[in-house]
Amino acid sequence: MPPVVFKLALVSHCILNQAVRYWPPGARLERPVFLLEIVSKLYRMGFSLLQLPCPEFLFKGNPRPSYTRTEYEMIDGFQDHCRKLASELASSIEHVIDLSTEPRIELTAVVGVERSPSCAVFKVPVSSRDGRIYVDGRGIFMDMLEQELRARGLYPRFISVDFKANIILEAP
Ligand code: SF4
Repeated sequence: MPPVVFKLALVSHCILNQAVRYWPPGARLERPVFLLEIVSKLYRMGFSLLQLPCPEFLFKGNPRPSYTRTEYEMIDGFQDHCRKLASELASSIEHVIDLSTEPRIELTAVVGVERSPSCAVFKVPVSSRDGRIYVDGRGIFMDMLEQELRARGLYPRFISVDFKANIILEAP
């Protein structure tokens, strides 16, 4: 009999806990149904979910300004903070995988959040002469998490939740 395998997905913190998100003044809690759909879809995709830490909340709390990736890169200590979180997380996942013989755990996916300066997977906000623009690329934390996982021989696919379009994005 082949061993039972659990497909683990690391999920950006705010997909499961909206309380840490950047919160514009006067914003309302408007997405509970969508979040339920997202989580249901991830379970239907066969994933076991593990919640990632929120790098921005753990660094600046709430309320916090709406920064671009460029602005976060210039904040003293933020990149070191993200690197530490990513490194500790990757080591912890490596340990979990090493310990899981039966049933086995395989790191299959990382689920980020589109347009987040920290957790974007496909489109990230950066500063330009014309103000904020969106370019192809990862957020700071996702970038570092991918590097730390790869350094340990782990190559999950990166997918992403788009809160505005209410969809899960996957690479073509
Ligand atoms: S996208 Fe990332 S940094 Fe932004 S609130 Fe969610 S978990 Fe935190």
